[in-house]
Amino acid sequence: MNSDPRRIVAAKRDGHTLDPEELAGFVREYADGEVSDALAAAFLMAALLNGLDDGETLALTRAMVASGDTIAFDAIDRVTVDKHSTGGVADGVTLVFAPLAAALGLSVAKLSGRGLGHTGGTLDKLEAIPGLRTDLAPAEIERQVADVGCVVAAQSPSLVPADGALYALRDATATVPSIPLIAASVMAKKLAVRTDLILLDVKSGSGAFMKTPADAVALASACRRLAEGWGRDTRAAVTDMSQPLGDAMGNALDVIEAVEVLRGQRGGRLRDLSVWLVGRAAQALTGGSHEEGMRRAADALSDGSALDRFRAMVAAQGGDPRAVDDPLAVLPRAPVVIAIGSDRDGVLAAVDAEEIGSASAGLGAGRMRKGEPIDPAVGIVMRPKIGDRLEAGAPIGEVHARDRDSADAAAARVLGALTVADAAVEPPPLVHEWMG
Ligand code: URA
Repeated sequence: MNSDPRRIVAAKRDGHTLDPEELAGFVREYADGEVSDALAAAFLMAALLNGLDDGETLALTRAMVASGDTIAFDAIDRVTVDKHSTGGVADGVTLVFAPLAAALGLSVAKLSGRGLGHTGGTLDKLEAIPGLRTDLAPAEIERQVADVGCVVAAQSPSLVPADGALYALRDATATVPSIPLIAASVMAKKLAVRTDLILLDVKSGSGAFMKTPADAVALASACRRLAEGWGRDTRAAVTDMSQPLGDAMGNALDVIEAVEVLRGQRGGRLRDLSVWLVGRAAQALTGGSHEEGMRRAADALSDGSALDRFRAMVAAQGGDPRAVDDPLAVLPRAPVVIAIGSDRDGVLAAVDAEEIGSASAGLGAGRMRKGEPIDPAVGIVMRPKIGDRLEAGAPIGEVHARDRDSADAAAARVLGALTVADAAVEPPPLVHEWMG
């Protein structure tokens, strides 16, 4: 890029549309360390406030993909799918989806992230399993997809490094919640890994970045328009995050819940959404109806084949496979466990899922700054869902903590995050919209 990067920032500040080449050059120079964090942060804020059009968003995405390696899966002869959630609370879908889809003969190649703020991260959950590695090299990822049918790995430093740097800067400068910036960040990671299907789970509600279904649809549409420019099949579900999806918010606790679902022992919204999404992936990649795909997924939960794929995935990534057969024996456990009792009679009407996710992160299950260590043992279990009846004094879940004071504080935050009504309340839909 020959132009002054300050001119690009000034142009976006003043509401102009940037030349795609110049924008790409700016990102390239930032990734190479030639544009300062200060200037890049000013650009991000200008983009958040004044927006990026489709051409600018595509240029940003292309520049981020071009900043690193790509994975092609040329040696895999099965159809491949990458499922991505935009982030939520008690969202253990990947832990269930990956082995469940593999049990149906699909290959799942998934690069996941770590938890940030109130949202949990799949890598943190998996790393609660003793020995399990997520820092796999591209060749290891390809080999595991061929051998096991599913892999969940970390985004390596050589894959989309410009997104890694920009995402950390956005987190530090309050510039995350912008539809074009999120779409470019999510899709750069998806486009760098060449699967046959990209399946997006765009969350909407109090525990999501997008608080309304309309904003979530706008984000899903922006992601799909980006994928079209690359000729990649991308389908999106806008799903409910107005309350924690599963019951567990904590890393070992999430694994225990996922294993119960994979054993066919646990129903509920986490199980139902996982089956729904696997049904959609099967429909897109192998034909047949969505109902047929869901039926096959339900069978794989009850006949042990999904659990078998999870055991193989854990073992292939160096994890202790007893975490799958006897999780309570090997997963880390918190020293203090207290029950949370409802403080009211009534019907659960609304949940501030972001607040409960933050309470769990505050116990040590998540991080407020990128790179902070986490505690795999601690977290919160909260069982009731919107529409359920609560009884004063009856337990609604537990806090798993390092000490009694932090446990009491987290329990109080959970109760403060619940709205309880007298009249009956209709549960929210699990899926708001399918863009297939
Ligand atoms: N997830 C991402 O990968 N990027 C964002 O910007 C937000 C959520």
